[in-house]
Amino acid sequence: MTSLQDQIDLSDEFQKGIVCDLHCHSSYAGGTGSLDLRTAVDNMPKKGVRVVGTGDCLYPPWLKILKDQLVDKDEDGVFELKNATEKEAQTKFVLQTEIAITAPIGVNRKIVHCIFLWPDHHSIEEAITLIEKFGVKNSMGRPFLTNNSIEEVGERINKILDIDPLIEFIPAHILVPLGIYGPKPPIVYFSDFFGEAAERIHAFETGLSADPTVTSLIPELDDLTLISNSDAHSAALNRLGRELTSLDLNKITYKEIIDALRNNRVCYTAEFHPSEGRYFLTGHRGGVRNHKQDEYCVYSPDMVPKNKICPICDLTLEPGVLQRAMELSEAQGSDREYGKLYGKKRNFYRMVPLAEIIANGIGIKNPNAKSVRQLYEVIVAAIGTECKLWTTKLSALEQILTGLVDEKIAEAIIEVRKGNFCFSPPGFDGSYGALTIGQTSSYHGIKIVKGKEKQSQQFTLDDFTK
Ligand SMILES: [Zn+2]
Ligand SMILES: [Zn+2]
Repeated sequence: MTSLQDQIDLSDEFQKGIVCDLHCHSSYAGGTGSLDLRTAVDNMPKKGVRVVGTGDCLYPPWLKILKDQLVDKDEDGVFELKNATEKEAQTKFVLQTEIAITAPIGVNRKIVHCIFLWPDHHSIEEAITLIEKFGVKNSMGRPFLTNNSIEEVGERINKILDIDPLIEFIPAHILVPLGIYGPKPPIVYFSDFFGEAAERIHAFETGLSADPTVTSLIPELDDLTLISNSDAHSAALNRLGRELTSLDLNKITYKEIIDALRNNRVCYTAEFHPSEGRYFLTGHRGGVRNHKQDEYCVYSPDMVPKNKICPICDLTLEPGVLQRAMELSEAQGSDREYGKLYGKKRNFYRMVPLAEIIANGIGIKNPNAKSVRQLYEVIVAAIGTECKLWTTKLSALEQILTGLVDEKIAEAIIEVRKGNFCFSPPGFDGSYGALTIGQTSSYHGIKIVKGKEKQSQQFTLDDFTK
């Protein structure tokens, strides 16, 4: 099998397409930072991202800002800043929101995040009226659509989609706790939650904790379009465009984007290493539940305790994305193995935001520090865009970086580009993985129980394994 690195150097696909990030949020959806449209327009050309989702467009206060600041000049569903200079007009926006859809599954209530894309303001106005009829309060960036049954979920999604044939609905970050395949409570197939609306799904979003190596374990996804987005709540350089999808578009119009999503015209996606994502492995982090700050446990799927109970707090462990994907693979009747690729070929590369590599290289914590930003500008000016850092031939990249920046930083970038990095410990239960450059890691045989020494002495190692 060729490595990811070889694929990039050998394939023309990585030179193609229009780079899109179709899932973002305004500051009205919680989280830190804010998605300032002007900052986005300044930063996205450096990233190489052309099309950005507006986030939260059903929420009236944010919608007002969008109407005030953006214009759809050609009436083709893609927006730009009003009175934009030629350079500013490079960055386009599409109307996008995330809706949290909830319904009871057995005795529990499941919450599922879904991306919705909208062709124009008219469809949004109709959707706002409709969801208010459904009882949605619409008092925050990400509206909550509460349902009494799976049938109701299906009916209501269908009603929203019936507003306009170009509205697209895409399950977001499918494997994390608030995704369709999340563990609370678990379902097996899309239709177990989306009911009859499941038939109208053309694409799914991997989320930061999964990439095609993880999602290819799940047979139901084989024929769907795979996309990747940042889910950013801020326009900072290490947030917006941190994951992305390059679509094969004839021109940048909303209709073309939807057409590409519905017909799998994806050139490639850029993915976090899944182990950087906050839900990759199973475990409990410190500082939550009955855990003190320095007490945590983390397990790879092969090492998860048989009873799935945390040895520190005695509560059920938070299942990681890898474990969920393996469970779903089996539940859907397959015997696929992690590490092999199945189904449709997906072109993708694994990356780390350049700002994070630079921060790591110069040994500081904050990837938004001024010193990082300065180096970022130098590197991106030499290469063209941050995207090109990952899709330029490695030998050419090495030449560009030599003498351009401090050797340590150049080396850090090249090592990551070669795939010589890992996250140790990996992400679990809501905490990001910690970047380690210069070594790789296998995600088997991981079993770490830290803290609470007295109690952990009551367990022998064997108690934790199958
Ligand atoms: Zn979400
Ligand atoms: Zn615990």
